[in-house]
Amino acid sequence: MDTVRVRFAPSPTGGLHLGGVRTVLYNYLFAKHHGGTFVLRIEDTDQKRFVAGAEDYIMNCLEWCGLLPDESPVKGGPFAPYRQSERKHYYYQYAQQLIDAGYAYYAFDTPEELEHMRSRFKTDANPVPQYDHLTRMDMRNSLSLSQEQVIELLGKGTPHVIRLRMPQNTVIKMKDLIRGEVEFDTSLVDDKVLLKADGMPTYHLAVVVDDYLMKITHAFRGEEWLPSAPVHLLLWKYLGWEKEMPQWAHLPLILKPDGHGKLSKRDGERLGFPVFAMDWCDPRTGEKTTGFKERGFLPEAFVNILAMLGWNSGTEQEIFSLQDLVEQFSIDRVHKGGAKFDYEKAKWFNQQWIFRKTNEELAVLVRPFIERKGAIAKLDYLEKVVALIKERCHLLTDFWEQGHFFFKAPEEIDLSAIAGKWNQSKTDFFNDWVQASSDIKSWDAAEIEQHFNEMATARGLKKGELMLPLRIMLVGGKYGPGVFDIAAMIGRSEMSARIQRVLQQLG
Ligand code: GLU
Repeated sequence: MDTVRVRFAPSPTGGLHLGGVRTVLYNYLFAKHHGGTFVLRIEDTDQKRFVAGAEDYIMNCLEWCGLLPDESPVKGGPFAPYRQSERKHYYYQYAQQLIDAGYAYYAFDTPEELEHMRSRFKTDANPVPQYDHLTRMDMRNSLSLSQEQVIELLGKGTPHVIRLRMPQNTVIKMKDLIRGEVEFDTSLVDDKVLLKADGMPTYHLAVVVDDYLMKITHAFRGEEWLPSAPVHLLLWKYLGWEKEMPQWAHLPLILKPDGHGKLSKRDGERLGFPVFAMDWCDPRTGEKTTGFKERGFLPEAFVNILAMLGWNSGTEQEIFSLQDLVEQFSIDRVHKGGAKFDYEKAKWFNQQWIFRKTNEELAVLVRPFIERKGAIAKLDYLEKVVALIKERCHLLTDFWEQGHFFFKAPEEIDLSAIAGKWNQSKTDFFNDWVQASSDIKSWDAAEIEQHFNEMATARGLKKGELMLPLRIMLVGGKYGPGVFDIAAMIGRSEMSARIQRVLQQLG
């Protein structure tokens, strides 16, 4: 195989959907598996859809996932520039070449004329008429007008686009690495605009020219681009580059967990899980969307989850590091069918990756999530906390839910859990134990527990009836790790303060 060169070619239009990251991942794995190069190219020719900040955001997402491009707008490379808006000068000559060869034509239609065409040709059988072999001769373009008229219009600087002349009744075949042979009927495809009135190429022209100039050998992209493939195949052919055309693979969709269709941002909002890689705030609307990162996923887990959404190794193995994936990935084990996203399973993957971290590593990872809640967390303290609660945590955010009482006195106390069975002897016990606990020499869980038990026995109280109240006093609810571990961690004076506060509330 020639040196493999793949590309991820996002348009900077908003947050990065997990399907987009999976496209990055499969490109990356394929390149690295074959010792090839992974290129990041920013497809920003559509000025109307351009969103400020989206490019930096994409880079940050790739960095978080550890999927760093070898060539990119930031890193540069032998085929720079890697932003299509900076490559404008490349495209015009190829559009012109297509015109000269009769594969493309000038079109002078105004937006009103296009609208008029749509209403004029609209029938029940054809509710959305296209600019194609059926309508093009009724429009104002260099196929329908005389040569003199065209020269005159061009000479006057009349705004125009360049369109691809789609052949009629031709079947175009393509070998897709995942789908096998795919056929397209060209009569169903419209005459796509290649160069816009502002001189910018459209995606269709730019993607082909840049894949050619950047010597891309394999183009893996989402299934939603399959309908565009015949346009691209024809452009490769018409530009005389067929031999250099990359091999295509259209990746299966990531589907909603319930029902049918592609998983959307709205599904995530509806079902309560993230869909974007990282938090995204749309600068136009101020709308915020949560990301996997901020929801508490580890990048290793996120990558592992995405790898399994569409690919399997053919074995029972489910946990793969990026390095494992690089070694084992092959495009022929990518499925054709869409993969349903299962959030519970995603959380399970994350927990597996949490278990693979040392407590020291986890403390560093968890710290920002604790600080976000306004608590101060020293790393050595946090290390002990994560050791006690990691079994209960699927997400890095769970460490706060499961362990907030290690950092702050609980704000809410579930008194109803103990009030029913409360009596004076319990009040006396806790009051006295708080005083007596100053006798505990070494403040560790085992000694605290022993002291507590001895005093309960001496008073003829059942330990079992005192444990739940102690937990409620320290934690606020019926959860958390061993209550004496908690007492040991928060220290004697904090423990005493919490007990006394609840005793007051119980009256
Ligand atoms: N710019 C396209 C996108 O936004 C890229 C499609 C392709 O990879 O060809 O997804």
